[in-house]
Amino acid sequence: MAVLMDGKALAAKITDKIRADVVSFGLRPGLAVILVGEDPASAVYVRMKEKACGKLGFFSSGFRLSADVSEDELSALILRLNDDPDIHGILLQLPIPGHLDEKKMLSLISPDKDVDGFHPVNVGRLMVGDECFVPCTPRGILALLDEYGVDLKGKRAVVVGRSNIVGKPVAMLLLQRHATVTICHSRTRNLPDVCREADVLIAAVGRPYFVDEGFVKPGATVVDVGVNRVDDEETAIRLFGKESPKTMKVREKGYTLCGDVNFDAVENMAELLTPVPGGVGPLTIAMLMQNTFDSAKAFAEK
Ligand code: NDP
Repeated sequence: MAVLMDGKALAAKITDKIRADVVSFGLRPGLAVILVGEDPASAVYVRMKEKACGKLGFFSSGFRLSADVSEDELSALILRLNDDPDIHGILLQLPIPGHLDEKKMLSLISPDKDVDGFHPVNVGRLMVGDECFVPCTPRGILALLDEYGVDLKGKRAVVVGRSNIVGKPVAMLLLQRHATVTICHSRTRNLPDVCREADVLIAAVGRPYFVDEGFVKPGATVVDVGVNRVDDEETAIRLFGKESPKTMKVREKGYTLCGDVNFDAVENMAELLTPVPGGVGPLTIAMLMQNTFDSAKAFAEK
């Protein structure tokens, strides 16, 4: 039976430390969060981020822009925030509507306030191993592996997913720790065979219960990044079984969340495994707070 890697507990530990550091350094870190449009999932994430700021005594400034905002208006807001001395982190909640050029908008954020780590300058710094803002979810994954004493040196790590937000940066961090890293994606051939070579398997696919026992080497560490919404009963029964608590939840509440890893199938094969919820998710927000604190400290030292 796998040991569960408790992301919620680690996130609480990290935020307790940030709270103490805010007091001892006498800082008031400021985070600006920009939400464009009405996407309900994005709105939930933004509220969670603002709530986390409130709990830590950060200054948080939320900007809700209508879905038809022009590029000029959004650009002007970002440039204004770049110059605002009370703001140390600027976060543009993704995805943004299609008429806005996502890469262009992210590039306008000052690299010194880019607490999501998506600006090309920070992406480049991560690539060459310089100090930078590391994207929050990958930074959280590494923190979790460290917390559970997973030694990466010389190990085989397989990352399923090559997004700029999770897959590529986490692969880069694993490489920095001297793992031998393979990145897989939708065109990878013999995916289960490749995954079975992994000592450390990171699933960032966005497909419910995609990784099953055929993907996992006995004794592997399995990190499930996926957060997938299942809202029809037929799919729930196929994935979780007729009487499982998750299927019941779909019947009662209309939806449930699950990861990319078929937890029940893998639980007895992996040595370490993250649950969903309560695994990687809470660390993403904790690391956003850490990056914002780090930024405020860097500004104070300038
Ligand atoms: P993306 O959709 O951007 O990327 C998904 C990746 O999975 C792509 O590289 C895609 O390959 C690959 N993929 C899709 N289908 C297959 C397949 N059948 N076989 C192999 N690879 C496949 O997703 P994200 O990286 O943004 O997110 C991944 C998951 O993590 C989602 O569930 C998301 O909700 C969750 N997430 C969770 C966070 C948290 O805080 N816990 C934070 C961020 C994301 P290709 O490139 O070839 O299309």
